[in-house]
Amino acid sequence: MQQLQPPVAVCTASRASGGKCALSPDPCSAPLEAPGVNGFVQKVHSPHSSPNDPVEGEIQAFLIDEDQLHTYDDLTKVNPVTTSTVLKCLQARYSAKVFYTHAGCTLVALNPFEPIPDLYSLDVMKEYHGAPQPQEFKPHIFIVAEEAYRNVQGQLEPVNQSLVVSGESGAGKTWTSRCLMKYYATVAASSSVVKSQDTVERIERRVLDSNPIMEAFGNACTLRNNNSSRFGKYIQLQLDRCQLLVGASVQTYLLEKTRVACQLANERNFHIFYQMMKGATDEQRKEWKMPRSRSFVWLPNAEKTVDEDCFDETVEAMVHLGINAERQRQIFRILAGILQLGNVNFSFSTDESQPCDLDEQSKDFWQRAAELLCVTAEELRTCLRVRTLKAGKQSVLKPCSQAECSMRRDCLAKVIYAQLFDWLVTFINNSMCADKSMWCNFIGVLDVYGFECFQINNLEQLCINYANEKLQQHFVAHYLKAQQEEYVSEGLEWSFVKYQDNQRCLDLLEGSPVSVFSLLNEESRLNRVSDAKTFMARLEKELCVNANVSWDKFSKVPHFTVAHYAGKVNYQIERMVEKNKDPVPPELTHLLQKSDNPLLRQIFSDKETENTTSKGLSRVTVVSKFKNSLESLMKILHTTTPHYTRCIKPNPECKPLTFKKEEVILQLEACGIVETIHISAAGFPIRIPFKSFLQRYGLIAKYLIFKSGSVDVEADRSDTLRQEVEKLLRVVLQHKAFDPSHNRDCDKPNSWVHCGRTKVFLTQLMLDPLEDQRKKI
Ligand code: ATP
Ligand code: MG
Repeated sequence: MQQLQPPVAVCTASRASGGKCALSPDPCSAPLEAPGVNGFVQKVHSPHSSPNDPVEGEIQAFLIDEDQLHTYDDLTKVNPVTTSTVLKCLQARYSAKVFYTHAGCTLVALNPFEPIPDLYSLDVMKEYHGAPQPQEFKPHIFIVAEEAYRNVQGQLEPVNQSLVVSGESGAGKTWTSRCLMKYYATVAASSSVVKSQDTVERIERRVLDSNPIMEAFGNACTLRNNNSSRFGKYIQLQLDRCQLLVGASVQTYLLEKTRVACQLANERNFHIFYQMMKGATDEQRKEWKMPRSRSFVWLPNAEKTVDEDCFDETVEAMVHLGINAERQRQIFRILAGILQLGNVNFSFSTDESQPCDLDEQSKDFWQRAAELLCVTAEELRTCLRVRTLKAGKQSVLKPCSQAECSMRRDCLAKVIYAQLFDWLVTFINNSMCADKSMWCNFIGVLDVYGFECFQINNLEQLCINYANEKLQQHFVAHYLKAQQEEYVSEGLEWSFVKYQDNQRCLDLLEGSPVSVFSLLNEESRLNRVSDAKTFMARLEKELCVNANVSWDKFSKVPHFTVAHYAGKVNYQIERMVEKNKDPVPPELTHLLQKSDNPLLRQIFSDKETENTTSKGLSRVTVVSKFKNSLESLMKILHTTTPHYTRCIKPNPECKPLTFKKEEVILQLEACGIVETIHISAAGFPIRIPFKSFLQRYGLIAKYLIFKSGSVDVEADRSDTLRQEVEKLLRVVLQHKAFDPSHNRDCDKPNSWVHCGRTKVFLTQLMLDPLEDQRKKI
């Protein structure tokens, strides 16, 4: 990979910072046509940009011009900004194979679902990195990457940056995150090397190699995406004083561990199992007891081949990260053991005092599972079939029912896999994290699951949607701040915010003293079998004051409905409390702590048994753990300058270059773009630089004066553009077409229009009569 020179600290107009140069002492001294959050005018210099004449471009931007829609680089330039115009614009761009579009301080990325030649090549990286003003280039993920990179040192104080990538499953978050990481591994490549047991690697290589490993263990083929990430991830790229990449660390969130033991129809388990099945040598196959002829219950749809079935690549990445051959052997034996467990079933026992036994066909699988997990077969069998109850100092053995045995088997597989995943993440961190003395800033890349709303939603969706509410709140606060900065720099009073944020929904979910989470936790800590109906009644009684929650009393399935910012979601109550408890029977932990596989022993050695009750119930519930990790993430995000990229999936079938409006509109709503539009609409969504305003509407004033027979007030040659605009507005506002009493939405005219320092700020109420008058001339 070719190494590029780090840039000299350049002060750039960042979209995230409202388009203002951080070092500029007086924002008003910025050039008239500087691009900004709502940069109405964007100069078009680059060979990548639309070849329009700039002034022509400005005029076109006033009202929607269908033929030119694909040339609008920023959705906030489309006038009027409505959901429908935004949609049309995106569709036009997609048809023209333009996949990135700015939306104020957000970048919208449409998934092409096919590789686009040269879109991410080294040459393109160099171009964006080397450009004095990359934001004048065509919108691209590299603009966001470069802005963040320059922002780190382009300010008076270095500021850490966060790149928040969101969108629904299959929209392209992980692809985008990989592009960002490749960009930094290229433009910020350092010569530093990292040593571990057997390997010496360049740090960029390690950072990039963490991806295939995490994807092999954390991604799976689902109905919506062949490479769906089943966990959230925040990776911090550590930069030294010269802005070179010297290390990285990663934090993961909420791995969907249930997938190990339960896959939906037409979905698959995590990639790594298929990679092993397809990529193993004969020798490995023998060791893992996985002959080609054997089929595994937990390996459904093995005949489906996806690009991610690449065992060699995963192993190679493991080697680069310093996972030696012996460790790899231990890892793969554990995974093979899990697969064998999936084929262990239990017979039905009519005698409650007798534990049900393994069914006949399962016996070989049980033996092999024990061998691969390096535990004694007999102990494994007992752990799965018999529960130990503690009564004071005495222990009582209680046989498990058939269903309980299956649950214990699944629990064993899930807990092993989740612990192994955590161990890998820790290993990856140890292998790529630089010493604190070596780095001074970071750029964080957040790739989290988007808003989810299925037919049946449970605790997983509740957590995911809660995370999205938190991120939305962060986004709105940031967006409003960027707007505020522009208003202040233009000398406008900041008074328009009527916007209702999503605090009430967050109060419902996590607030105190009572919230969905607090009640769930309370119920989970009580040592009783939770009944869905009773719990629903409790929720209803305690939370009825919050308007964001509702109940359908006549529904057969107990559930509650939360009005999220992105839409309403029904959450099923059945099993929610149990999922929140996520119990691990202590016998299973003890068994694994005695394994002869050193890795298995190690990953369970610090699994806190003291943190669980005698019933195996964790005192730390799923919800409380997730809430804590999310709070730490939000704290980090608050200390950084955020950059948002919203990935959009243009069709549910993942077909190349197919744009389905209905799908896109739902996502624009869910990822907050429509919300952003609403926020802009709460203020002055239309911003026109003085020169353009006079060019377009200058004649209206003259026409009105002529019609009324009064004396024309010729613009004095010494008038500044601003004074000319003010005169024009004075004349125009005296006319009855602009009289608020003639308008449905009676309001004060000065709440429709404001004259800033370089631009006129308008609402739609003002633009419509202006355009009507213009047509009359
Ligand atoms: P999930 O939430 O399920 O993890 P995701 O948002 O991370 O989904 P990706 O896995 O990044 O989605 O993308 C899905 C697929 O779309 C990729 O495997 C790739 O085939 C394709 N894709 C995404 N972005 C691009 C792009 N910019 N160019 C070409 N193909 C892309
Ligand atoms: Mg993903």
